Amino acid sequence: MSLSFYNTASRRKELFTLPEGEDTVRIYCCGPTVYHFAHIGNLRTYLFEDALRRTLEYYGYKLKHIVNITDVGHLTSDEDEGEDKMEKGAARTGKTVWEVADFYTKAFMQDWHLLNIEEPTLWCRATDHIAEQIDLVKTLEAKGFTYRTSDGIYFDSLKFPRYADFAHLDVENLQKGSRIDMGEKHSATDFALWKFSPTDKKRAMEWDSPWGVGFPGWHIECSAMAMHHLGPTLDIHCGGSDHIRVHHTNEIAQSECATGKPFSRFWMHGEFLRMGASDSKMSKSSGEFLTVDLLREKGFNPLDYRLFALTSHYRNYLNFTWDALESAKESLKSLHKKTDLLMGKAQKIESKEALDWQAQFKDAIGDDLNMPKALGILNNVLRADLVESEKAALVADFDKVLGLCLDIPREDYEKKAEGVDAKEIESLITQRTEARQAKNWAESDRIRDVLADKGIVIKDSPQGTTWTLK
Ligand code: AMP
Ligand code: ZN
Repeated sequence: MSLSFYNTASRRKELFTLPEGEDTVRIYCCGPTVYHFAHIGNLRTYLFEDALRRTLEYYGYKLKHIVNITDVGHLTSDEDEGEDKMEKGAARTGKTVWEVADFYTKAFMQDWHLLNIEEPTLWCRATDHIAEQIDLVKTLEAKGFTYRTSDGIYFDSLKFPRYADFAHLDVENLQKGSRIDMGEKHSATDFALWKFSPTDKKRAMEWDSPWGVGFPGWHIECSAMAMHHLGPTLDIHCGGSDHIRVHHTNEIAQSECATGKPFSRFWMHGEFLRMGASDSKMSKSSGEFLTVDLLREKGFNPLDYRLFALTSHYRNYLNFTWDALESAKESLKSLHKKTDLLMGKAQKIESKEALDWQAQFKDAIGDDLNMPKALGILNNVLRADLVESEKAALVADFDKVLGLCLDIPREDYEKKAEGVDAKEIESLITQRTEARQAKNWAESDRIRDVLADKGIVIKDSPQGTTWTLK
């Protein structure tokens, strides 16, 4: 059974395999800019990436999956115009940029957890990788790909002849018709690698560099973190479809000019969530957007949204309406009515018919993540004339990819929506206690940090460890 994905770079479906001798898929996903809550559009993209990673695992691959947290440098326009989004967030909330980053990172991770998205191998913050970003700019400078203006160090896009290829850009027209004030930029498609702090005011986030005090450009962050953690050539790089034209085009240009190697073998992009029939895109900057918290306030379980997202293919636009979410909620309820009856009955999948259903499911997800088809197969299995032990086993098997918590009773998954997964927290606390008993302080501190990121405060006493929500 083969696995194939649509590769944005070639604009066609390609067979996915790893290079000879490799067993781990190295994936980088562009993460959130933490100046505001994530909206359910952003989260649609992370749900598509979750389907990708669960599918790869289902096919037996090991993963090294990195998601970044953009906590500096993303300006209000992707083309380096306007304010830093983090500073804007600070002005809006009256908090410091560091507090804003911390608050929205935690809120983001909570949404992630509530939607049952698998933890990446590593979360990495842009502000923890400033040295790697400066090194990358130095390499580009040494190779002659940069120039200096009064406000920063820029990448000279005309020196990368393949610049337009990835997004099929019409650079000539872009130059001619550019309504962007190019300032001192040589070309409309050039972009900032390092921005200088304004001379008349101190920025909350700024660092020394060989070029002067300032902060990194948004694009260099992702290239530097991806290559630092995963090497010069990744297996898969993902993001939302809006990243194709500017962000990923720029990541490719600067990474490939620095290393001389292809930056990623596969590029996968999720299409946008739109609001209702108006076709308008949901955007954080407009301030009008729906969050997971709002869905919960209105009585939905985050997994209702997960199911809603799975009902469309990730490369198609998805229109959000409350009615559509309501019907996803009803579908999940009726799935649970059936799967709750199968709880604890799973045994081996061995009949020809059951193995055939399993093969069909594997084929569907392996065909560029056809989740709507995979859901159809699940429904057919629940209606099929199979013994309960096999039905139960197939449900548990499919749910490894669908992530709808069909292997736990509905009552328990409702509890998940309360914000914490008590079982998971208890298990982390047990692991931490064991680490402390083994005097493995590094590990016990790491677990404490993982818990803190989930908003859990722990208290040690002679009687044991207790926890509360912050
Ligand atoms: P941001 O936090 O704005 O940097 O975006 C985080 C991720 O969400 C990126 O991969 C974007 O491409 C993606 N994204 C932004 N808006 C939408 C939307 N309406 N639908 C789906 N994905 C989106
Ligand atoms: Zn990125």
